[in-house]
Amino acid sequence: MIILLVEDDEAIARGLEYSLQQEGFGFLHCSTLAAARHALANERPALVLLDIGLPDGSGYELCSAAKAQGASVIFLTACDDEGNVVMGLDMGADDYITKPFNILEVKARIKAIMRRAGKNATQETKAKVVEVGELRLDCEGRRVFIGTREINLTAKEFDVLEL
Ligand code: CA
Repeated sequence: MIILLVEDDEAIARGLEYSLQQEGFGFLHCSTLAAARHALANERPALVLLDIGLPDGSGYELCSAAKAQGASVIFLTACDDEGNVVMGLDMGADDYITKPFNILEVKARIKAIMRRAGKNATQETKAKVVEVGELRLDCEGRRVFIGTREINLTAKEFDVLEL
C-alpha cells in the first residue's frame, strides 16, 4: 500500500518517511503540487497526506483529484485554523492533523482510516486458523484445540495466545 506525502518541509518529510517505512507502507514524497499530481496519476496511492501551503499552490487543489480516484486524504494543517479544517473536510478529506504532530498520532490516524476504508495496511489477511504442532487456534470461532481436545480459555487468555 502506497502513501503519498505532499509536503515542502523536508524535516517533516524525512521524519514521516522513516516511520511509515518502518510500518511497512510504501512511501512517496513530493514537495510540489505539480509533482504530486504526477505521482497521484502514476502511482495510485491508497492515501495522501496533504500539506496545505505548498510552493506552487494549495493542497486543497489536489484533494478532489485524490478522492476521485479512491485515495483517502489527510490534511496536514500548519495551525489549528478552524476555517482551514472545515474547508478541508468539506472537500471530502477523511481527516486532518495539526502541526506540529506526533508521529504516533499520524500512524494511528492512518490505520484508522485504512480500517474504515477497508484497506488492509499490510496487505496480509489475518489467518483464520493457526496451527503450531498439536496446537490449533480457530481465530474466528475463538476456540483452541490440542489434537482433537478443546481447551477452554478465557477471552483474555485467548487473546494472549493468539498474539
Ligand atoms: Ca508547507
